[in-house]
Amino acid sequence: MSDEPRYIGKRERFTFSCGPEKACFNQCCCDINQFLFPYDILRLSRALGMTTDAFLAKYTYIYAGDTTGLPVVSFLTSGKDNHACPLLSKEGCRVYKDRPASCRMFPLARALARSREDGAITEHFALIEDPICEGFSSGGATTTPARWMEDQGLKEYNRRNDQMIELISLKQQILPGRLEGDEKEAFVLACYNLDGFREKVKAGDIEVEEKEAVVESDEALMDAALAWVKARLFGR
Ligand code: SF4
Ligand code: SF4
Repeated sequence: MSDEPRYIGKRERFTFSCGPEKACFNQCCCDINQFLFPYDILRLSRALGMTTDAFLAKYTYIYAGDTTGLPVVSFLTSGKDNHACPLLSKEGCRVYKDRPASCRMFPLARALARSREDGAITEHFALIEDPICEGFSSGGATTTPARWMEDQGLKEYNRRNDQMIELISLKQQILPGRLEGDEKEAFVLACYNLDGFREKVKAGDIEVEEKEAVVESDEALMDAALAWVKARLFGR
């Protein structure tokens, strides 16, 4: 096994199994350097009964991404516990139902490519054959990337994360370099601290269409925050 990705078609078969019976159980949640998308943060904070700002403060840190210059959110880990995810317990993931997209996707990675000719977006997949993972080594169920994503409940995660990828690509075209100052704050607020964004909407500090829906629904809140940050930073 190698830790180099092996590319695989969306409907190509692979065999994998995972569960508490594996000797490697929980190993993939240690030594992590995992960044979180806005929808991950929303789902995790709701699962833990916290506001997004409390979740960010307790479980994450924010830094500037090397390639994008955008603020990136990662789980806070400690060398004392083998850099394990802060949401890991002996029994496994404490937030399994609401685990982030990258946890659901493993052992697959998914990337998007846009055609220069017609702008069409295509999905690409790779298998991450991590040497610590025994999931490939002892039979298991045969599946495909398409089936895996369905079984892991990734549809809404992918839809939301693809919106972020579009935002990142827009930023690279319009505002190359590191985002700083008010622009950085606006990005963190609208993308990561959605409850903070909602409070500003309620107080009338941020104007949005459909204010009532934004106050009531997380779905409307995410849509409004994305539209606001696009207009605020990129004039779109
Ligand atoms: S969120 Fe859950 S599945 Fe993901 S790394 Fe943390 S403990 Fe593991
Ligand atoms: S390392 Fe692989 S097989 Fe082991 S628990 Fe993680 S995903 Fe499952």
